[in-house]
Parts: sequence; structure tokens; C-alpha cells
Amino acid sequence: MASKAPARDGAPRKGGDTLADKLARLGIARDEDLVLHLPLRYEDHTRLTPLAGAKVGETVQTEGTVADVDIAYRPRRQLVCRIEDDAPGGGRAGLTLRFFSFDPNQQKALSPGARVRVYGEVRDGYFGPEIVHPQFHVVRAGEPLPDRLTPVYPTTAGLSQETLRKATARAITADIARTSDTLPEEFVRRRSLWKFGDAVAFLHAPPPRLAALTQRALDARTHPAWTRLKFDELLAQQLSLKAHRAARAKRNAPVLTGNGTLQKQLLDRVRFTLTRAQQKVWREIAHDLKRSIPMQRLLQGDVGSGKTVVAALAAVQAIESGRQVAFMAPTEILAEQHYRKLAAWLDGLPVEIAWLSGSLPAKERKRARERLASGDAQFAVGTHALFQEGVEMPRLGLVVVDEQHRFGVAQRLALRGKGLAEAHQLMMSATPIPRTLAMTFYADLDVSVLDELPPGRTPVVTRLVSEKRRGEIVEHVGRRCEAGGQAYWVCPLIEESEKLELQTAVALHAELAAAYEGRLAVGLLHGRMKPAEKAAVMEAFVRGEVRVLVATTVIEVGVDVPNASVMVIEHAERFGLAQLHQLRGRVGRGAAESQCILLFEEPLSDTAKQRLKVIYETNDGFEIARQDLAIRGPGEFLGARQSGMPLLRFADLERDVALIEQARDAADDLLAKHPDAARAHLDRWIGAKQEFIKA
Ligand code: ADP
Ligand code: MG
Repeated sequence: MASKAPARDGAPRKGGDTLADKLARLGIARDEDLVLHLPLRYEDHTRLTPLAGAKVGETVQTEGTVADVDIAYRPRRQLVCRIEDDAPGGGRAGLTLRFFSFDPNQQKALSPGARVRVYGEVRDGYFGPEIVHPQFHVVRAGEPLPDRLTPVYPTTAGLSQETLRKATARAITADIARTSDTLPEEFVRRRSLWKFGDAVAFLHAPPPRLAALTQRALDARTHPAWTRLKFDELLAQQLSLKAHRAARAKRNAPVLTGNGTLQKQLLDRVRFTLTRAQQKVWREIAHDLKRSIPMQRLLQGDVGSGKTVVAALAAVQAIESGRQVAFMAPTEILAEQHYRKLAAWLDGLPVEIAWLSGSLPAKERKRARERLASGDAQFAVGTHALFQEGVEMPRLGLVVVDEQHRFGVAQRLALRGKGLAEAHQLMMSATPIPRTLAMTFYADLDVSVLDELPPGRTPVVTRLVSEKRRGEIVEHVGRRCEAGGQAYWVCPLIEESEKLELQTAVALHAELAAAYEGRLAVGLLHGRMKPAEKAAVMEAFVRGEVRVLVATTVIEVGVDVPNASVMVIEHAERFGLAQLHQLRGRVGRGAAESQCILLFEEPLSDTAKQRLKVIYETNDGFEIARQDLAIRGPGEFLGARQSGMPLLRFADLERDVALIEQARDAADDLLAKHPDAARAHLDRWIGAKQEFIKA
């Protein structure tokens, strides 16, 4: 916050909440922020309708003299005020004002004989035309009408529009520097943009009686004044990303050259040759690790494309270079699978792996942490609990974050803040980043793409089957498993109640166990089981003893059992697209032809229909992510809705693609030619929110 507090025009201190507190709730810390707090819509107070002309159904501003005021008690307590005025052609016109909540000041203002100006929607009341809860004030003699539209701002409890309007108007006029252009004149003109000051003045107080086209553009936020503000916002975002990148380039990361010995041993162990795509991304990553600039690379590859082995190669290169590695996964099951796989791959090599998870017994956790703190263990694998508890890794050189999209932007930022700034970071995701996000929130990442699946995979056949035909599916899956296959059977997702979800899982397990009795062993896996129990069931499934595994979505990500070739998803209509794609990716990993059976219950909602159609029609993760974005919007993708991180306020990632591109080019141009302007621009837009760009 700047040295001076924001406007305090005698705001009452209600419950200790000052005006500054209330403004802070709106994200306004400085007067500069008030300038950027833009109206949601406008009211027209520039016209005065004679009382006699106030028609039912219209929103009007009119004037009259209080003839009568009273508190009525039926049907509930209310203030009823009658105003009147001369009607053209003689006689009196009247209007009733009705308030169900009112304070003594309002009551006093409406005393008989007072001349009041009111604004609101006229309705057909019991005693003729009336306005419920009109805006009103007592008019001074000869008081002029405003000559601009009146802004209606986003606000918060206890902060009136009037206070906000005054504070904003004052912030705009008190210091012309606040509305002066941060960008050079020539820069603005070349892009045919409005001047910042003009745009702000227009948006806070547009002139009345706009042409219909202009009014529509204003409402749709495509008016040039809006375009300027959106452009500025996107430019600030681009500049902050570039600032972040530049700051990263100045930090010193350990140079992880390695010597190739562990790598060679690892490749001998895995018993397959890397695909061309794996070799290509591995070269990119290995190259980054050898530089003293911290790597921030996203390894993007569809489900089953073989990201883990690439991460393992990076890990051993770091370990060969005398450094420690942290490998983080979003769920306990996945972290454990990684741990087992990596431990098997590295068995017999001079690498000590520590397994860390939130649910490990305290004693074991303590020991793992000690081994890491002393540097005896070089490799930590676990859930993000690994980082939340401040595990010390004095020689940390590389952090791998698996299924990065599950963590969201906020956690990405938190990760940056945890003293990991000097370590190389490899993020992995099966969900491709949509282009607009790649250009904005993820623009500081380098991206490697695994665009090829390992050989010998047969595509998964997807079937949509109505819940009514469930019996046939039970029989069908039974036969396939008796013939040597294995199946996942995923329980319905019940977002509202974990308990209910658990009960459903148990019931489904009992049902299938009864159906397959004497034929097939059925296992159960859910989030509430102890880690040891989960591990035991998972192991029995890996060994092929359990043929059908009933599971909640704990298996959603990363689980890898090549012999499993059938995936049944109950109530598929409740799942999101990304989830369905991830679940389907659990099969199709071996040579046998795999099936994904989506059971759905009718009637289907429109979006559910849309989702099932997409998942039925395509296996391509890119296409699915694109459709997902179209259906859900980018906020969800960013995982920011839950975390409350502010996204863009004005620009829209889907509608303003062209502007994003323009802002990106402009950011380079500005930094190269006008670094001072870039700094001023960042200060205006990011200001107090600087932590957003701190590395
Ligand atoms: P994801 O990219 O979804 O994390 P994984 O790393 O789990 O995929 O790999 C999926 C499966 O493919 C694993 O069983 C893995 O061992 C196997 N795999 C990885 N690379 C190859 C390869 N080049 N050739 C054959 N199999 C491979
Ligand atoms: Mg994986």
C-alpha cells in the first residue's frame, strides 16, 4: 500500500470495519487500484421523467414533493411515502415509495414538504404506481442533473455505491498521474489504442444517450475503452511473466552434468528402448540440467506415453552430480507406485530412496527425514506432504512434480516460494495446456512434448452403455477376466459426500464379489483405507490374484498395471472430461485389446451428453483438453477456483486471444525500447500484488 491510505470520506466505523478494510476486501489497496475498479453497469440519472409520465415497468428518475409518510405494519413493518407533483393539464400525479428496511435518517429525510429525486423501477402497486426501495435524495433548489451515466461498481457488504463512487471519482481527479499513460504515445498510437486516461474517464462516467452500437459494445466490453484496459492488463501479465523469467535467469542453479554411469545402468534395467519422442525430450531436459539457470520445464505427454522413465533419467543425472532429488505426486497411491517402480529400477545401484507420505507412521517418517537431511538418502518420493512439512534436503538439485495439472497454479506458485528457487524443476502433465493458457499463465515454462506412445499398444475401444444393461456388462467383464484379463471397476463419484461414496464402493464390491463368487477374486480400493491395506490390494492386483478391482477415483492418475484391459466406469456422466480420459488411460497399456465401458444413467444433462460424446469420439488428449476448456472455461483448468487466486479481471482468455497475442509482442517491444515504461506499467497493474511475480 502506498504511504497514504485510500479515501476516507468520513465513512462510519461499523464493527471496526474501516473503509480501507472494506476496500481491501475488493482487492483495493491503493488509490491506483480504485482507478482500475471498473463498473459492472450504469444507471441513467441524466434524465428526469415528470411524475405523471412515470410508467409501470420502466426504470425512471423522477421528482416530487412528499405529501404523506407513515409506517405501516401489514403485512410487515414498512415505511410508506407518498410523493406528488403537478400533472400537465391540471391535477396532481402521485407515486408511492415503499421501504421494507430503512433507518431513522431516511425516515427523517422523507418528511412532508421535502422535494425528493427518486430512481427505480415503477411497479403496479395496490394503490397505483409505486417504487420499492428507490434510490432517493432530497434535492437542492436548482440542483442540476448529472451529465454522465452513473457507474455501478462491484462492491462488498457495508460499502455503498455512493461511497465507492465518491472514493473513485476522488482517486481519479486528485492526481493526474493516476490516469496518465504508462505507455509512450507513439506505442499507443501505432496500436490504435485509446489513451489510458480517456479510456478510464469513459468507463467510469460514460456520456448518456450513446448510439445503440456503442452501448452494445460497452455492455459486451468490446468498446475501445474496454479494449485498452484489457490490453493493459494482459500486457502487465506478460511483463510480469517476463520479469519472472529474467529473475530466474539470474539465479544460480547447480550444474548437473552427471557422468552417465547411473543413467546407463538405469537404461539397462528398464528392458525397453526409449521411443524417439522420449529420446528427444530427454535431450532437452538433460541440456537444461547442465545449465546454471534453474530449469522450469513442463513435460507434456498423453496418458501412457512414458513420462516416468524420463523423470527417472533426470533424477539419476542429478544424483550422479552429487545432488538430491524430490519427486512429488498428487496422490498417495500414485506416489507409492512411483516409489516402487523407481526402487525396482534403481535396485542395486548406489542410490538411497526415501519414501515419504502424510500417512506414514511418525517413526518411519522421522527416519526418512533424517536420512534426507543428512544427505544419506539422495532421492525423496512422496505426496506433496513431502514439501508441506518442510522436509530438509540440503543438497536439493531437482524437483519433479508429476501430474502437475492436479496441483494448479497456486501450488505452482507456492512451490516457487519454498526455497526451491535454486533447484531445477521438471513438471509432468498428461493434460495439454490450451494455447491461450500457454501464452499467459504458463508462459514462463519451457515445454517438451512426448507425442508418441511406446510401441505395442492397442487403442482402447470405448463403449457407452446405459445403466439398464448393467447385468450384461457384469457378465461380459466376468468372461474377459476368466479368459486372463483384469478389470478396474470405478465407483460413482459422489462429490457431496465422501461417506456416501465409501458406502457405494463397499456395496459395489459386495455386489460384484457375489456375482463372481467361485470364479474371480474381487478387490476393493478406496481413499479411506490405510496405506498398507491399499498397497496390499494393489500388489495383489499387480500379481494378477485379484482380477477385478473395485476402486474410487484414487486410481485416477498414473496407476500402471499393463495386464488390466477393461475399465468400467459407473455413472460416467458425473465425471469430468479430464478425469474420464485419465481413467481410460489406465488400460490399453499391454498388447491385449482394451475396453473402456462407460455406464451412464438417463436422463443425461446437456453437458454430460457433450462430455460423453467427446470421450467416445476421441482418444486424443489434446483434443479432449481443448473440448474440456470449451465446456468448462479456463478457470477450472487452472485449479484456481478453489484456491481463490485472482485470475484476469477484465480480459477473457477465450474471447480475447487476439489481444493476448498483441500484448505478448508489445511486452517484448516495450522491454526492449522503454524499460522505464514497462516498470511504471507493472507498478500500476501489479503494484501491491508483487508477490505474484516474485520467484
Ligand atoms: P505416463 O506418461 O502416463 O506417466 P508411464 O511412465 O507410467 O506413463 O509409462 C506407461 C507404461 O509404459 C509403463 O509401464 C512404462 O514402463 C512403459 N514404457 C515407458 N516407456 C516405454 C518404452 N519406450 N517402451 C515400452 N514401454 C515403455
Ligand atoms: Mg505418470
